[in-house]
Order: sequence, then C-alpha cells, then structure tokens
Amino acid sequence: MTTIPSWARAERLARARKEQGERGVDALLLGPSADLAYLTGYHPPHLERLTLLVVPAAGDARLVVPALEAPLARDQLGELEIEVAAWPETADPVRLVVDALAAAGATGGRLGAGDQLWSTFLLRLQAALPAAGFVPASTVTRQLRMRKDPEELEALARVAAAIDGVVEGLDGLRWAGRSEQELARDIEEAIRDTHDKFCFAIVASGPNAASPHHGATGRVIQPGDPVVVDIGGRLGGYCSDTTRTLVVGEPPPGFGELYALLHAAQLAGCAAVRPGVPASAVDAACRDPITAAGHGELFLHRTGHGIGLEEHEDPYIVAGNDEPLEPGMAFSVEPGIYPRGHYGARIEDIVVCTDDGGRRLNKTSRDLRIVS
Ligand code: ZN
Ligand code: ZN
Ligand code: ZN
Repeated sequence: MTTIPSWARAERLARARKEQGERGVDALLLGPSADLAYLTGYHPPHLERLTLLVVPAAGDARLVVPALEAPLARDQLGELEIEVAAWPETADPVRLVVDALAAAGATGGRLGAGDQLWSTFLLRLQAALPAAGFVPASTVTRQLRMRKDPEELEALARVAAAIDGVVEGLDGLRWAGRSEQELARDIEEAIRDTHDKFCFAIVASGPNAASPHHGATGRVIQPGDPVVVDIGGRLGGYCSDTTRTLVVGEPPPGFGELYALLHAAQLAGCAAVRPGVPASAVDAACRDPITAAGHGELFLHRTGHGIGLEEHEDPYIVAGNDEPLEPGMAFSVEPGIYPRGHYGARIEDIVVCTDDGGRRLNKTSRDLRIVS
C-alpha cells in the first residue's frame, strides 16, 4: 500500500515521539490502523491475535506480533528501527506489551491507545496495567496526520484525478429506466479499474437523494430525477471522495434554483479556505447563503471532513471546530440541500489548504450534469 521510504517513516516516528513529549503521552499502543500504517508502513489485517506497536516517548519501539505474521511484518518495516517481538500461539502477547513498557519505565504512565484498538485488547491491557492511565492515541497522531506532507498531497491529487476520471464517465452511462444498484455496479467497476480498491458508490435518485448517506437500492431511475452520486476508492493507500449531482433530462420545478444556490455556497466554502481561518468559518461560508435563502434546515450535515489514509479524519469542517487551518490540511467541502420527499443535491470536492488559499483537487465541472 504505502510507498513511503524508510527515512520518511523514521522521521514520522521521531515527530510522534516529540509530540508525545509535549502532550505527556508516555507511550503509544497502536493496533492495525491508519496510525500504524502512517508511522511504520506496516498494515496488518485486524485479527483476533494481538498485533501492537509500542512506541515509548523515550526508549525503543517494539512491535508485538503473532509469530506467523512476523516475516511479513519485518519485510514491511524494512530498515525502520523497530524491534519485532514475535509471540508463538501458546504465549500471552499482553505480557510482551507489559515487558516493552517496563523496559521504557512506562507501565504506570499515560498511554495512548489506538482509537480503533478493539476493546477485547484494550480491556486486557487495562487489566494488566492497573497503574496506567489511557488516552486516545489520536491525541498525538492527529497532530501529524492532519498536516499532509508533499508526498501525501501528491498521493491525494493522484487519487482525486482517478475519481475525476470516473465522474467524467458518468455522462456516457444510461440512467433512465435502470436501477440505482445497476448504476452503482457500473460505477464500482470504473472505480476498480482506476483505483487499488473500491470503497463506496452512493447513487441516490429522486426522493432518495434527500437522504445524504442513502445506499443504492432497486429504485428505477425516472426521467426528471435528480441523482446524487457520491463515490470513492483508494489508490496508493489514500482515499478519494467526490460528489456530483446529475439530472435525467429536464429538472423538476424549483430544482435549478436550488442547485444554483448550492453551487454558489460550495464555491464560497472553497474560497474561504486559507491558513489561519478557523475550520468553522469554512462551514459558515457554505451555510450562510443557504440559510439566508431560507433553506438552512435542509442542509443537514457538517460541511466536510479531513481525508487521507482514512475517508473521514481530522480536521472536521463543522461549527464549533475553531482550529485554524494550516497549509497541508486536506478536507472535503460538501454542502448539500435535502428537501424531504422531493429530491436532494450535494457537491463535494477535496480541497487542500495552501499558503495561497484553497486548492481544489477534484477538477470536474460542478455545473448540473444533464444525462439521459
Ligand atoms: Zn459522508
Ligand atoms: Zn462523499
Ligand atoms: Zn465526503
């Protein structure tokens, strides 16, 4: 998955340790996760057998891994200086974790447990480490992963271009008289052709489009239906996520005006992106024109989410998140308007905050697409 060289991963580990020092996190405990892949390049499957990376703020990092996974782990870690502690089937891996923490003097410390570490592991760790305190590992890792380095931005631009290619192909599909599921299958195939992995294809037609996370159903698409198409995949480990709204032939009454309002709001959101601006201000820039037009209650969700190794990650573009944007942050700007029982519309681009403002990674037209 990741093509990040060892030296870059070593740098990330060093930055994680520095962040741990500043935030008083004595050790990170990371299971299979984007955090683990980000820091080490190792992306094991989620297994009932414990795999856990122990990263003390000061001291040697150790990967506790089932013996059968150890050769693959060593291979993926490459030249990274991480000791691999392989445990045979009959051993207690929690013991190895406690040993690694003891070697760093951290058994009674403040430990950052991976946000997606299964509770079956966390509960055993908590029982074995009664003097320790636990905080989410993201306390540390979000500070790193939220600010993408140039290689990550390149990977995000590549995967955005791949999904844009899929969007360009939407006009060539036949929509009227086919079910949402049939269209979703066509789109899935196009995503598989251009990405390493297919992630999702929302095809929401007519009244179904009023539900932001509607899955594709057997509903047959009718002439005059607006259709919200929200799609994504993964390439080189990084995620794509874009939404375009289409209409089959002639749009229903009122839809054109609503779409123009949404289009302007999405532009305003993208234009508000620059360093130092709070994330909440981008949400407000999208929301204010929709509210002013009397449709505020139809914009049901936050404006956006960060994106990277995960589809949804920090920073969240939402009222109340006053964290200032910084160069290297990448996130969606995706306002939507959803009149229940009628139709819905959404426009979504991934935008990167740069020194000069927002740079849109998705480059397909945001005009309403007429299909047949
Ligand atoms: Zn979503
Ligand atoms: Zn989306
Ligand atoms: Zn999104």
